[in-house]
Amino acid sequence: MWTVATYVLKQRLKRRQRYPLVLMLEPLFRCNLACAGCGKIQYPAHILKKNLSPEECFKAVDECGAPMVSIPGGEPLMHPEIDKIVEGLVARKKYIYLCTNALLLKEKLSLFKPSKYLSFSVHLDGQREHHDFSVCREGGYEIAVEAVREAIRAGFRVTTNSTLFDGVDPQSVRAFFDEMMDLGVEGIMVAPGYSYDKAPDQQHFMGRARTRRTFKAILSNRKRNWIFNQSPLYLEFLMGKRHYNCTPWGMPTYNLFGWQKPCYLLQDGYADTFAELMESTAWEQYGTESGNPKCANCMVHCGFEPSAVHDGFSSLRGFAAMARSYLFTAYRDQDAERLLQEPVRPVHAHNPFVNIQLEPSASESQQA
Ligand code: SF4
Ligand code: SF4
Repeated sequence: MWTVATYVLKQRLKRRQRYPLVLMLEPLFRCNLACAGCGKIQYPAHILKKNLSPEECFKAVDECGAPMVSIPGGEPLMHPEIDKIVEGLVARKKYIYLCTNALLLKEKLSLFKPSKYLSFSVHLDGQREHHDFSVCREGGYEIAVEAVREAIRAGFRVTTNSTLFDGVDPQSVRAFFDEMMDLGVEGIMVAPGYSYDKAPDQQHFMGRARTRRTFKAILSNRKRNWIFNQSPLYLEFLMGKRHYNCTPWGMPTYNLFGWQKPCYLLQDGYADTFAELMESTAWEQYGTESGNPKCANCMVHCGFEPSAVHDGFSSLRGFAAMARSYLFTAYRDQDAERLLQEPVRPVHAHNPFVNIQLEPSASESQQA
């Protein structure tokens, strides 16, 4: 929080109109899961085999200058030099969120040292049945939870990240939050899914109205012990309590193709350098206000969390709203209680479970 606050204030003093908050660093695209809602793993085999080198990662991090680096993928633990990448970023005092489905976490834990700069952000999409359905792997939840326990025991910082799709049961998500806090994670991250063109399952992405209703049901009347590892104003945005425009440059993406325009989700070309990304992207063509149909239903964290953070530090009103959201966390709401009582037909109750086991040649065998 303090690091983010000082960084944002420095950018404002420098009068920078556009500045990055979190670098999304994708050092590879291959994964040992094949989730139905994933838009990252559909590349041809020769792309899936490739890795960014540690030096390429450091160059991108240094060019960008953001204080936080999120390492999604693919599955970063399948990168043969992920330990070197993490070590180099810790040496640069970057706060790292290593996003992992945790299938390999237990066996790879010894590659890393606990540090205040390193958090494992474990992908868990809900309670056991829902998570296994979402990632198309029976037993995935158990493996991830056991790895979380082991990482916490070993002294690592651990958070969870969950992507919610249409048909999600708000009661079950709330029970999942209880389970995660009991497990001892440091915080929870939650966001709606984005309807990637490439995702195999196109039916279960939520529109904006549905997203607000679902998050209002989930995030109102909060338990005292729930800790969220994200901007409280972004959570209010998801609940429909405030409006933001997208800030696509707030979480720029660097991957095997270069600097991706304009954001983590869309691929409208690539730039060779971070400076070129900032100067050559037609930013006005993106965001929900732009009329771009690809942005119409988007409320995802990579576009709107930077807007919420900026709001919290850009005016007294925004700062007061942020302070209030830290002080008064209950969000009492009778209408939301009523929403929780509405019958839900969870997606996994009326869809076949597809248990996808990747061939070793496409996944594990590509590790070093
Ligand atoms: S864990 Fe699932 S969502 Fe994440 S990269 Fe792998 S297949 Fe995609
Ligand atoms: S609205 Fe969403 S898809 Fe469009 S630029 Fe922003 S983050 Fe990307």
